[in-house]
Amino acid sequence: MDEFFSPMVRTVNRNLLKYSAGQAIFCPKCGQVADCKNWVVATQSEHTVGLCASCWDAKASLRYLPASIEVLDGRVLFARAKRVKK
Ligand SMILES: [Zn+2]
Repeated sequence: MDEFFSPMVRTVNRNLLKYSAGQAIFCPKCGQVADCKNWVVATQSEHTVGLCASCWDAKASLRYLPASIEVLDGRVLFARAKRVKK
């Protein structure tokens, strides 16, 4: 689905991850230094949570995630494009 993100939406989402990681400075769960490339922001209506990716993975595997949660994953949004060999 990531291929269908328009460049503008991608830029906005990347900046949101940078902002969230910059605000948090540390992961609220494990205390690791926040890095936007290893950061996950989950939003449901007005509630927003920012966590490092490993804490998010541990949390997300434990519970059922409703479809109304919007998740921005820095590992996906800051992933480098893979070169396709022709
Ligand atoms: Zn963490």
